[in-house]
Amino acid sequence: MFNKILIANRGEIALRVVRAAREMGIATVAVHSTADSDAMHVRMADESVCIGPPSSTQSYLSFPAIISACEITGAEAIHPGYGFLSENAGFVQIVEDHDLTFIGPTAEHIRIMGDKITAKDTMKKLGVPCVPGSEGGVANLEEAQKIGAEIGYPVIIKATAGGGGRGMKVAKTADEMEKAFLTARAEGKSNFGNDEVYIEKYLTTPRHIEIQVFGDGKGRAVHLGERDCSLQRRHQKVFEEAPGPTISAEERAAIGKTCAEAVARINYIGAGTIEFLYENGEFYFIEMNTRLQVEHPVTEAIFGVDLVREQIRVAAGMEMSFQQEDLSITGHAIEVRINAEKLPNFSPCPGRITQYHAPGGLGVRMDSALYDGYSIPPYYDSLIGKLIVHGRDRPEALARLHRALGELIVDGVDTTVPLFHALLEEDDVLSGAYNIHWLEHWLEDNLGGG
Ligand code: ADP
Repeated sequence: MFNKILIANRGEIALRVVRAAREMGIATVAVHSTADSDAMHVRMADESVCIGPPSSTQSYLSFPAIISACEITGAEAIHPGYGFLSENAGFVQIVEDHDLTFIGPTAEHIRIMGDKITAKDTMKKLGVPCVPGSEGGVANLEEAQKIGAEIGYPVIIKATAGGGGRGMKVAKTADEMEKAFLTARAEGKSNFGNDEVYIEKYLTTPRHIEIQVFGDGKGRAVHLGERDCSLQRRHQKVFEEAPGPTISAEERAAIGKTCAEAVARINYIGAGTIEFLYENGEFYFIEMNTRLQVEHPVTEAIFGVDLVREQIRVAAGMEMSFQQEDLSITGHAIEVRINAEKLPNFSPCPGRITQYHAPGGLGVRMDSALYDGYSIPPYYDSLIGKLIVHGRDRPEALARLHRALGELIVDGVDTTVPLFHALLEEDDVLSGAYNIHWLEHWLEDNLGGG
């Protein structure tokens, strides 16, 4: 096992990794930009290294700064968290070249899954069901129009290198194809340096269901059921739950087995998430994330496992501490993402926290790096906390979420907490009757934004 690991991230996820490492008796090194000198992850880690100015390209994304921090402190492995360098195959290569261990999958797997066309092709060959669409990339508008006519409108044009909801455009009819195709291509080029796009049937009322998988890198893998993350704003998740309210035990077992077998066959190591759209009882693969997800705590709650601990174990060459037959679901868990944003437009709202009080009690987990007097810097994303509740069933989890949101105090900045109070008044949310478009419509009707 490692003696010391470095965490190449900030905020709640850096803290999350510190907590797992500490329970395992592993020392931690925090890295931070000059804007984060007073951040909680820096205070909580055993050591810290300032790696650069506020701009993340010169700090949290800087290979030389992070590798040097490992060398200075004697850290043997790097946990990337999510975002930043977590899915950067080039970085993983450099880490390995320096005889350090990357706590995550191999550069090759990151590369395969990071290119959506290659990912889809790979998954298809591994027997995972995919959304109907173009075979690989689409070279020009003419071809795009031909495929649109074949599979039928609406279609979605996606940049193969896209992510975070960017580089995707819907064409509802043939007339809209030209604009959608050219915009998706341009966004792919400007945001990700790659203008290759592909086309998929646009599903009109799907849910977003994702399967958590975990592999040991030696041909063994398990699944930890699904998360339903259908409540999204601009393709970004805001409310996640497990198990999915509409998924039966039989469906879970079947799709879970397909996913676990697929990653076992490629000797996948560590945590991964296979994302699907789910409509009329069918699963359609959209992408695989080769890292820990923001919403991993809902899975941890219902399975009673520590996914970060497992990531560290397998990266150190140890066995996973569970097998498929050891894994069973207890109750229901919900996570809400609390952002420092001002409604109704969700504009970022950095600033000083004058008072912070985290909710507690049975079945409540608050993953946050906030504290009284902390100043949220304006340079990074606006996630300031994740409130996770666990109950014996969905109604209990919802009641607990309502109670816990009432206890939470975040003063000094605007947050998305009022959104969740309002959502918990909605019958569709209470009954679980929503698809990926529900929240956008609700926001238009209720906040006039979206
Ligand atoms: P990203 O990598 O940008 O997150 P994804 O491929 O995971 O992109 O898709 C993000 C979201 O976009 C999905 O959760 C869903 O809301 C929507 N989406 C993607 N593909 C389709 C599709 N074929 N039909 C309908 N919606 C889609």
